[in-house]
Amino acid sequence: MSDNIESTLTETRHFAPPAEFTENARLKPADLEALHQKAEADYEGFWCDLAREKIDWKTEFAQGLDESKAPHYQWFADGRMNVSYNCIDRHLEVRGNKTAIVFEAENGDTRHLTYRDLYNEVGKLANALKGMGVVKGDRLIIYMPMDAEAVIAMQACARIGAIHSVVFGGFSADALRDRVVDSGSKVVITADGGERGGKVVGLKANVDKALDSNPGDVEKVVVCKRAGNDVTMHADRDVWWEDAVDGESVDCEPEWVEAEHPLFLLYTSGSTGKPKGIQHSSAGYLLGAIVTNEWVFDLQGDDVYWCTADVGWITGHTYVAYGPLAVGATQVVYEGTPTVPDAGRWWKMCQDHGVTVFYTAPTAIRALMKAGPDLPKQYDLSKLRLLGTVGEPINPEAWMWYYTTVGEERCPIVDTWWQTETGANMIAPIPGATTLVPGSCTQALPGIAADVVDEDGKSLGADEGGYLVIKKPWPHMLRTVWGDDQRYKDTYWPKFGGKYYLAGDSARRDAEGNFWIMGRIDDVLNVSGHRMGTMEVESALVAHKAVAEAAVVGRPHDVKGEAIVAFVILQGDRLTGDEAEEMVKELRNWVADQIGPIAKPDDIRFADGLPKTRSGKIMRRLLRSIAKGEEITSDTSTLENEAVIPQLQGKA
Ligand code: ATP
Ligand code: MG
Repeated sequence: MSDNIESTLTETRHFAPPAEFTENARLKPADLEALHQKAEADYEGFWCDLAREKIDWKTEFAQGLDESKAPHYQWFADGRMNVSYNCIDRHLEVRGNKTAIVFEAENGDTRHLTYRDLYNEVGKLANALKGMGVVKGDRLIIYMPMDAEAVIAMQACARIGAIHSVVFGGFSADALRDRVVDSGSKVVITADGGERGGKVVGLKANVDKALDSNPGDVEKVVVCKRAGNDVTMHADRDVWWEDAVDGESVDCEPEWVEAEHPLFLLYTSGSTGKPKGIQHSSAGYLLGAIVTNEWVFDLQGDDVYWCTADVGWITGHTYVAYGPLAVGATQVVYEGTPTVPDAGRWWKMCQDHGVTVFYTAPTAIRALMKAGPDLPKQYDLSKLRLLGTVGEPINPEAWMWYYTTVGEERCPIVDTWWQTETGANMIAPIPGATTLVPGSCTQALPGIAADVVDEDGKSLGADEGGYLVIKKPWPHMLRTVWGDDQRYKDTYWPKFGGKYYLAGDSARRDAEGNFWIMGRIDDVLNVSGHRMGTMEVESALVAHKAVAEAAVVGRPHDVKGEAIVAFVILQGDRLTGDEAEEMVKELRNWVADQIGPIAKPDDIRFADGLPKTRSGKIMRRLLRSIAKGEEITSDTSTLENEAVIPQLQGKA
């Protein structure tokens, strides 16, 4: 028996890029081929040329890749630039009056901000922050609703060389405090409250709670008036955003920072453990944001782009706050839930704003598919030309629904694999060039040396599952874990002589060279000596018409090594009693038919929902504890729906 992971998923549907798409795409097959060849022939030169072409520099760089402090790699280190300048100022002359952001609130209120408006708002806030004593290198927490002001706050920090750390507005006071303290932040930018699902979340109240018990280094709290709820303002410490920017000039000379100057810290989702403060650079990060928005999302002059991610996640950094602006696009920003007033809200917004490129997560696709399978058909989605997904493997059945019902079989789907740590898309289709296979993120982007290797770092053959690694440093990679270089080394470079970046995911490549993400390394099941990725068993379950969502984990078993436990969310209501027993039998046989008897779940449990991180990812580490019948002691501070836990435990 090999140590590698066996693949059980057989997906044979292929979708070649539509000719019309290719004709108008930025990258046609020959362009993509040329980029790959250039990256092969001269890796460092490839990235340096792009950095010169795509970024406006204050001081040109002479140094490309510097490996002297490996694994703390540096790129373009002797160059100087400013990210906010590259996102805003450089557009003013040609597209100052172009809409940068179309903001829609849950209640339907809409406003448009041009690039000029953005320049003015960012400049005023940047000057106000400087007036509060914020200087280059200081850290700030941004704890805001998903509105245009969140983007303005991020850009204002970038403008003055302050390092932001955005904390998702759905996080508790405890989670906020941890991040305030760990980052040593001097200022918190927040709002009175955020509106979600018709309810007001007291963001300012959470800030008070977090700071009252441990203010860390926080000197100032800037509060944006948003929901209009009552708040307590602490004299000396708290100031209204509106008052802070009152009378400030719109012009704020950008701080010209070194390429390696940290642009931001972002704590990971916490799917697998205590969140890590991932530190990103300025120039290398921006370069990744620019090229992937051009290559993968094909953003062009009159596109209307909508990435639904919150700025609290990396996706909301690279594909909302920075990338689309750096390439001069128009984008939609929405504060609210996708199901208000019903599960057609997003599709209506795509229609109303003429969205052409749409990017979301599998968890949202599955939820909207469950809540309203035919709702997209009620709206005019004919402007859509490209769809994307990120965050988790997308089950082929969800992919097919997205493709046929939302994209009307016209829009390619870019399934983008990447991480907080990688800064931007790493493995993803190029929509005008790549043939798609549902469930696969297809091929590594030009200049990204992704591979699947075994325990010894040896490249694996077709359909052999192993470790997903990146074999060469890339410009938009993380630089370290904030304040913890050792954790950086131990987490990402522990194997293969410290030469390869270890992503922490398991994967395989098929005979065509397409990548398939199989799950986290920790999630590999070992049943009677067969090593399987949880993702594949889940996809088999979701392919059954009664199943909306499924999560699979292992539990120690005397004979088999591991038994398979499946947590299943059905379409419609949760079943109990005889009906549940019948369904369990049916699903076990179904999986046996789809994959083979070896993958038959030993235990199937139904619940109304799965435990998820606030970014919508299934928390398998928690499910593993539940499957074993353990007390839940692990950190659940990033968990969204604690109420489902007793159901999953079989206690409710
Ligand atoms: P933590 O690192 O704290 O456990 P996290 O890994 O969930 O949290 P993120 O950086 O937001 O935090 O997520 C990156 C992970 O998401 C990847 O390692 C991978 O497991 C998964 N992922 C992202 N995109 C895809 C995709 N297109 N296909 C499959 N998996 C994906
Ligand atoms: Mg991770």
